[in-house]
Amino acid sequence: MKQTGKVYVVGIGPGSYEQMTIKAVRTLEQSDIIVGYTVYVDLIREYFPGKELFSTPMMQEVDRCRKALEFAAEGKVVSVICSGDSGVYGMAGLVLELAEQFPEMEIEIVPGVTAASAGAAVLGAPICHDFAVISLSDLLTPKDLIGKRLLHAAEADMIICLYNPSSKKRADYLHWACELILQHRSADTVCGYVKQIGRDGQEKHVLTLEELKDTQVDMFTTVFIGNSRTKTDGEWMISPRGYRNV
Ligand code: SAH
Repeated sequence: MKQTGKVYVVGIGPGSYEQMTIKAVRTLEQSDIIVGYTVYVDLIREYFPGKELFSTPMMQEVDRCRKALEFAAEGKVVSVICSGDSGVYGMAGLVLELAEQFPEMEIEIVPGVTAASAGAAVLGAPICHDFAVISLSDLLTPKDLIGKRLLHAAEADMIICLYNPSSKKRADYLHWACELILQHRSADTVCGYVKQIGRDGQEKHVLTLEELKDTQVDMFTTVFIGNSRTKTDGEWMISPRGYRNV
């Protein structure tokens, strides 16, 4: 069969419609079918009435992406949606890898606002200097490698942004991560976390690294650990670029 379809991998931003890019909205409007994890498909459903939707539960990423490529092979224009940015712990890599089996297939990656930027805007300016993004999920990365990355980022005085900070099986991982970071950073390092960025129930908190160590967060949270110069100013968390020192 002639392949006339196309697969877009679209980052839909952290949650609210306003935080989707115009390109993401246009791409979804022009797609024949939108494919994604059930929670994300439910987030966008109301904005694309009448659109064919195909959702699968979490943990079925490979099947979902393969299905998207198969729809496109039948001639459809397909959008695979991811929260935030499609290339930051998103589906862009997997779709491109699977597409090796569909050599003629046209693929386009559409970026989105990642949780680190959207959450940073809520807190103020916590990642206004060099930062490392580290996921605490050990589903696809060995835990000791995650630990090594945390230690090196902490030692290099990078601002650290943590994705997937917790889950039912990993309830103590944030505590573990903070203990590692404390080997190189002071207990009063300014930290923050934002829950449900851009969604109902958004919450922000600013606290010290010592306090963060004993805080329980959920998987819909992004955590920010400042560098040695990060400070608070009223309700804001700020990692200065240094303009005021020159
Ligand atoms: N592709 C996504 C990240 C997927 S990994 C992006 O670029 O944002 C999932 C993790 O991202 C979550 O565990 C959480 O740490 C973070 N995250 C994604 N959306 C979020 C939101 N709306 N509020 C808070 N954290 C979010």
